[in-house]
Amino acid sequence: MLFRVAEKNEIKTLYNMLAEKNAVVGPVRTGKDRNGAPLYAFEQIADFPKLDLSYTTTRLPAKRYFLPFREDLATFTMSGREWTKQIDYNIDRPYVLFGLHSCDINALNKLDKVLMGPVYPMPYYAAKRKNMFIIGIDCRPQPFCFCRSMGADTVLHGFDLFLTDIGDKYFIEILSAEAYEIAKDLKTEAPKESDHLQYMRTVAEKNKQFTAHVDTTDLTKILDMEFQSPVWKQWGDKCLGCGTCANVCPTCYCYGVEETVDVDLQHAKKTKSLYSCNIVDFAEVAGGHNFRPERSTRLKYRYYHKHRGFVEAYEESLCVGCGRCGEACLAGITVPEVIASVRGEEH
Ligand code: SF4
Ligand code: SF4
Repeated sequence: MLFRVAEKNEIKTLYNMLAEKNAVVGPVRTGKDRNGAPLYAFEQIADFPKLDLSYTTTRLPAKRYFLPFREDLATFTMSGREWTKQIDYNIDRPYVLFGLHSCDINALNKLDKVLMGPVYPMPYYAAKRKNMFIIGIDCRPQPFCFCRSMGADTVLHGFDLFLTDIGDKYFIEILSAEAYEIAKDLKTEAPKESDHLQYMRTVAEKNKQFTAHVDTTDLTKILDMEFQSPVWKQWGDKCLGCGTCANVCPTCYCYGVEETVDVDLQHAKKTKSLYSCNIVDFAEVAGGHNFRPERSTRLKYRYYHKHRGFVEAYEESLCVGCGRCGEACLAGITVPEVIASVRGEEH
């Protein structure tokens, strides 16, 4: 890792350099919520002023740029009496994700373990992911953020450049060779001791702002012990089974596949759609049997996958504590409250 500092207006130069050859996606302000708070989304940026690096959070993660909600896996054409298969990895040109917070970069690192790992490799994801340049930016903790509890408030890999606002300049972490080459054309300098101190002060100040927490001590053991706990039924009774929590989650990757044939029987396609384990037919199999017909067992499954099964497989949770699911849930179900109730605590 190489450290540099740069004047803030150098970020515009960085943007212009990258936008010459790449599509740049970053946070933009899209409006206000009903309380007047600004809303943000990850969108393709046409002009630098649209990029809002001081954003708080986005309702949806940047997932659609590497794990789209719906994606054609293959198309088929009848030639003679045989189907010919065409695969398109659906990449237009390299993407730059400009301004991801640590939690969202950590989410990508978790997805990589599954979708680029040896057990369930997903070539469509890998093709997009390898074609991506990632610039991280430090964040301001919101009342619903519990990333610090999940160890996702800071990130050590999975990005090319990371920017931290230290007042009148950016503290820059350079991780990849590509970022190193790009940074050569920026006006940067080696950080002074005063920049190091300012960086550490900034991080310490940020750490004081977290108000939401999840106690993850012994959580996998506690989930094993509390598998039959009545709290699952209580949360299940509140849950609407709408699947919104998975839609907004940066780490949910479960999907269904549908095959359709045109009426002329000459063309067909196989389409993948992201799906949520909270939706009623998620665990329904051929013949109509549903392994998880009750909302409580589906909600419980989601928690056990993220905080129990994934930990067993990868030694880390499949939750980065971004808080998006709790913010989006119409029933007001949040991860800190569910975990606290399983632990027998009032929240
Ligand atoms: S968003 Fe809330 S109500 Fe909807 S499925 Fe998830 S937990 Fe249930
Ligand atoms: S489960 Fe909720 S808090 Fe955890 S990563 Fe997904 S959306 Fe964020």
